[in-house]
Amino acid sequence: MTLPEIIQFVIDLLAVLLLALGIKGLSKVKSARDANRLAAFAMSLSVVGLLSYYVGTSGIAIQSWIWIIIGSIIGSLFGAILAKKVPMTSMPETVALFNGCGGMSSLLVALGVAIFPISRSSLINQVSISVSIFVGAITFTGSIVAMAKLQGWLSTPGWTQSRVRHFVNIVFAVASLIAFFDLINGNTSSIWLLVIVSSLLGIGVTLPIGGADMPVVISLLNSYSGIAAAAAGFVVKSQLLIIAGAMVGAAGLILTQVMCKGMNRSLVSVLFGGSLSAQITASSGSGEYTNITSCSVEECALTLEAANKVIIVPGYGLAVAQAQHTLREVTKKLEQNGIEVVYAIHPVAGRMPGHMNVLLAEADVPYEQLKEMDVVNPDFPATDVVLVLGANDVVNPQAKNDSSSPLYGMPVLDVQEARTVFVIKRGMSAGYSGIKNDLFDLPNTSMVFGDAKKVLNDLIGELKDLGVGEK
Ligand code: NDP
Repeated sequence: MTLPEIIQFVIDLLAVLLLALGIKGLSKVKSARDANRLAAFAMSLSVVGLLSYYVGTSGIAIQSWIWIIIGSIIGSLFGAILAKKVPMTSMPETVALFNGCGGMSSLLVALGVAIFPISRSSLINQVSISVSIFVGAITFTGSIVAMAKLQGWLSTPGWTQSRVRHFVNIVFAVASLIAFFDLINGNTSSIWLLVIVSSLLGIGVTLPIGGADMPVVISLLNSYSGIAAAAAGFVVKSQLLIIAGAMVGAAGLILTQVMCKGMNRSLVSVLFGGSLSAQITASSGSGEYTNITSCSVEECALTLEAANKVIIVPGYGLAVAQAQHTLREVTKKLEQNGIEVVYAIHPVAGRMPGHMNVLLAEADVPYEQLKEMDVVNPDFPATDVVLVLGANDVVNPQAKNDSSSPLYGMPVLDVQEARTVFVIKRGMSAGYSGIKNDLFDLPNTSMVFGDAKKVLNDLIGELKDLGVGEK
């Protein structure tokens, strides 16, 4: 081993240890912020290690240093500003954009090494470069399409719902594989063909997917970005990138499984079954509300005062209203009155995996009070009051009872089993899936209309007047 190799090995080892510690810390809400910083530091350390290796072995000209520094500053500023400015409700688009950036970086690194090789290329190197370009390009274009769809800039074109798209995608896939193996064989002229057809494949596969299937696609693209990064790690000989990429790849796959289970959709039907939103357009329209009961915040407070057990169901609307802190104040009052309070978390509530967990953690809700769907569902029959806060699709009984519903088969929270259900939302608008919610028509459901934050603020006032939580 040469001195630069020893230095890079030691720095990489340290970075891997710090990254592992960082990831471990992410599993606890309290330590997550510091853990995130530690993991970011580990990645920066690894970049320093890698640069020192290349300086030691091949010597990077001073001109390159300037480009590296300028690039790092621009990238860091862009990331920091975006992270500070983006609202919680736009997190899915941001995550999709970051996945795309990951894919693009792996693609560019592999292209750089393939076009300007600094040493003789081995077979492992050729394979890593080909995988990086192939998966990186799919991830990049797929993620940009996903971001544009979530942002509402792009809708699902009608032709992508026909069988033509399978034919088109098969052509792109076959062309990609031909270019892929040609590149492994050392024919560098196939590079651009591989870049173009795998980019088109990324667009072709993601474009038809929409509606409630988007969370699955985002977590799958997240996994792809990890695979591309791991391959790029082999290209630039960074142990940390290989390990981090493999972890992201595996974690993304597990998350994809969890999301598929949460939606009761197989990955094959998400990828090849067409857009759920298209099915919705075909089957929706059935359904006027016929039995809506609404009530005042005062009535809601009176029922809560008399309850022994309350379950809170947070949804996307809670994030829109940014009412998590006000909600915490309400639940603190109830708890002070001896009322048992838990939060029911549906795996696809909100607009990104873990959205509700992050939102409630912001308001310091104790982690033990968050109950997953399978755990909390048997508790609803013994519950006095359920407060549904800006949630809609995840509490729609159609998913269980109506085989013609586009949501049919998706596991949902059985809130209708509780004695009384209060649904807090601004009006009768549908949720993400765009369909009617049969819960709102049930006799034990009362709608409390208004912005979640305003209603919760009023509720605090009413509870105060009743002396709840004032002891
Ligand atoms: P939904 O999207 O089904 O419903 C949200 C409800 O919140 C709306 O009906 C809306 O009604 C209400 N709302 C909006 N703003 C406010 C406000 N300020 N105050 C009170 N209520 C408000 O949310 P769910 O969380 O129940 O379900 C999530 C859906 O999103 C699922 O279909 C899921 O598949 C999908 N999805 C999930 C992703 C994920 O990763 N978790 C990613 C992409 C999609 P109104 O306008 O009348 O107030």
